[in-house]
Amino acid sequence: MTAFSELMKTRYGIEVSDTQEELLLKDLHAIMEVNKVMNLTRITSEEEGMVLHLEDSLTGLPYVNDAPQGLYGDLGTGGGFPGIPLCIMTGRQTMLVDSVKKKVRALEGVASDLGLQEQITGYDGRIEDLALEKKGAFSILTARALSSLPSLMELACPLLRKHGRLVCYKAQPSEEELSMASDIEGLLSMKKIAHDSFELSDGSQRCIIVYEKIDKPHVRLPRRVGLAQKSPLVRPQK
Ligand code: SAH
Repeated sequence: MTAFSELMKTRYGIEVSDTQEELLLKDLHAIMEVNKVMNLTRITSEEEGMVLHLEDSLTGLPYVNDAPQGLYGDLGTGGGFPGIPLCIMTGRQTMLVDSVKKKVRALEGVASDLGLQEQITGYDGRIEDLALEKKGAFSILTARALSSLPSLMELACPLLRKHGRLVCYKAQPSEEELSMASDIEGLLSMKKIAHDSFELSDGSQRCIIVYEKIDKPHVRLPRRVGLAQKSPLVRPQK
């Protein structure tokens, strides 16, 4: 067993096969290569990348596996995290979504270097526009370092099928952010089903919060492009 697969097994109960580990490392190396010519990530050493990209991305795996079968989307994927590692681990059909065209083109190149071109598609556009094209198409969505919880819930809601789930990767959400999110659960019919805090192997604090879409939202979505992030929904006044 390598140090990485040992760590994933003992710390998180996640089994990483040799083939998966090979692909994960190939992904990290490919992204670090692209990063020399394009700003995808601030992380430049393999050592840091192993923890802050690969280990961190994989912490969401059990939550993704608990979601219904079907299409997976990584919202605001940037350098393809956690999207590509989770695609490698789950074998799900995966869509990497980012509004920056050249990032998405670069990720498609990395996907084909990894032999994952059949499994991974890129969408270069705003999440709000994707929601118009692919309403209810996703069983599972992830988002890391994209936006506040209320914005993520709103952006994800129209893309998810009923019982589909949103896995939010967070460092340490404030009480205010958590309470604003819980205020709009009813409006969006997005119910919090998990909230787990833990530490990565380098001691960084992490938190995973999962929502399930339990019904149709009580507001028309998507709202106009930009509003979910600039002017998040609040609890309706009684
Ligand atoms: N998930 C990655 C990158 C986070 S940076 C990681 O954790 O490393 C956030 C990314 O989201 C940026 O690449 C930005 O271009 C994209 N983004 C922000 N708002 C977006 C929107 N409304 N639609 C699509 N992409 C968006």
